[in-house]
Amino acid sequence: MDRDIATPLRTRAILEKYGFTFKKSLGQNFLIDTNILNNIVDHAEITPESGVIEIGAGIGALTEQLAKRCKKVLAFEIDQRLLPILEDTLSPYPHVSVVHQDFLKADVHQAIETYLQEVKDIAIVANLPYYVTTPIIMKCLEDHLPFRSMVIMMQKEVGSRITAKPGTKDYGSLSIAIQYYTTAEIVMNVPKTVFIPQPNVDSAVVKLTKRDQPVVAVKDEQFFFNIVKFSFAQRRKTILNNLVSQLENGKEKKERIMAALEKAEIDPTRRGETLTIEEFAKLSDGLLPYFA
Ligand code: SAM
Repeated sequence: MDRDIATPLRTRAILEKYGFTFKKSLGQNFLIDTNILNNIVDHAEITPESGVIEIGAGIGALTEQLAKRCKKVLAFEIDQRLLPILEDTLSPYPHVSVVHQDFLKADVHQAIETYLQEVKDIAIVANLPYYVTTPIIMKCLEDHLPFRSMVIMMQKEVGSRITAKPGTKDYGSLSIAIQYYTTAEIVMNVPKTVFIPQPNVDSAVVKLTKRDQPVVAVKDEQFFFNIVKFSFAQRRKTILNNLVSQLENGKEKKERIMAALEKAEIDPTRRGETLTIEEFAKLSDGLLPYFA
């Protein structure tokens, strides 16, 4: 069959042929619109020399469009039932390798070494299962996977949080965790009608471009992320009150926090959601000697 996988007709025919039933618990909402898929692939800026990692291949709708434009695709899929289907639908694309693994448990560095040799650069492109969007993105960042950019379909609300700027209601520890490593922008809003089955939520495509270095230099990354998390523990509280209630080490705690805030030129009555990443960095470096 020469029609694309991601058409309503072909998708339905494939699902019927294999008697496939969707598992909601695995976030299975397949794309049935080649225009949307092509837009996603455009944003990934891949070339015939690129390698692509896809997370959650489904029946291969996105995999196919990626395969048409790059050198190699490494696609992870957790659902065993999809493997024979993918073998069938992706048979015209021998440069695609499907790995049957939970991406969150996979040794992705090893898989890159095995399947993505001789590629010039690596992009991560995925229509993610929405129940694990954040852990999957954080794994890609914290494991320091050697990718250039990620183009990811996700729940619209999560996209808004990831790309949020200080002083907005969506800004929080997730915005900071991701913007620490990348520049993040929403590149597309996507209607429910392009999925089968249709999800209950609106979707957006977010592009994350990896920075050469984290946006700020901090003395202790783990401590910095803890300070960020503590500062948002109760959004209505001031930064001072959140830190006093979250940090351990009783002795002269409040005074030390006040001193660190003053040194970082942060008014103690401000709320965490108004602080820039640079201010959090200064603050965590100032608190480090006392509370690490
Ligand atoms: N890429 C296909 C598309 O766009 O039509 C399918 C996208 S669907 C939203 C998400 C896919 O991720 C499903 O096929 C699901 O089985 C798979 N999946 C869910 N959790 C996973 C995990 N932890 N690791 C790898 N794949 C996963």
